Amino acid sequence: MSTESLRIVWIYPDLLSTYGDRGNMLILARRAQLRGMPVEVLEVRSDQRLPATADIYLIGGGEDGPQALGAQRLMADGGLHRAVAQGSVVFGVCAGYQLLGTSFFAKGTRCAGLELLDIASDRGPTRAVGELAGEVDARLGIPYLTGFENHGGRTHLGPGVSPLARVTAGVGNDGATEGAWRGKLLGTYSHGPALARNPALADLLLRWATGIHQLPALDDTWAERLRSERRAAVAAAVRA
Ligand code: GLN
Repeated sequence: MSTESLRIVWIYPDLLSTYGDRGNMLILARRAQLRGMPVEVLEVRSDQRLPATADIYLIGGGEDGPQALGAQRLMADGGLHRAVAQGSVVFGVCAGYQLLGTSFFAKGTRCAGLELLDIASDRGPTRAVGELAGEVDARLGIPYLTGFENHGGRTHLGPGVSPLARVTAGVGNDGATEGAWRGKLLGTYSHGPALARNPALADLLLRWATGIHQLPALDDTWAERLRSERRAAVAAAVRA
């Protein structure tokens, strides 16, 4: 860690914060605090400079306009690039995932991304809305992914990244794979918020940020109930 406390930055709550994605920040801070880690949470608006020294950066989803503006401002700011170069963790959801790539579409225009992940997004034939589930890359050591998706974009992965999961329900990147990761950067189409529905994913980010491989276990009874309930709903929808 760069400082004594774990520093978590929520990027541009004024632009990128749809579908309760701010919950990712709350979950991450809570899971760290329950393990006795001091946590400092910073919400950085799009008219503020982004500190480059935090441990974890979170970016949420957004509509096309705020997404394009957010990408431009992050590019001009340069703080996220410096943080990544220093080994910080980045977790992007939906718009926040797409803008980490080389390009994405917003309002019919191709926009430049931050080029931090080897992905490119274009537009799909339909909007992907509904439950999203997948089997996660075994190297990440976490159970199945569950979430809610709502996006018009489709994402194509280059050789520089690995898919986060193989899709078992919903669309994700393209109906076959969902999300992408490399090093300590990870993106997903999963809202929910994603870290509430996938506490193991929250712990993966905490492990990456702290270097602590054996985090004390927490009582995840409620999260497990939610996960099983959503998994059953997906299975019922497939049977119907
Ligand atoms: N604007 C992007 C799309 O529709 C991302 C949407 C979102 O973040 N929910 O693909």
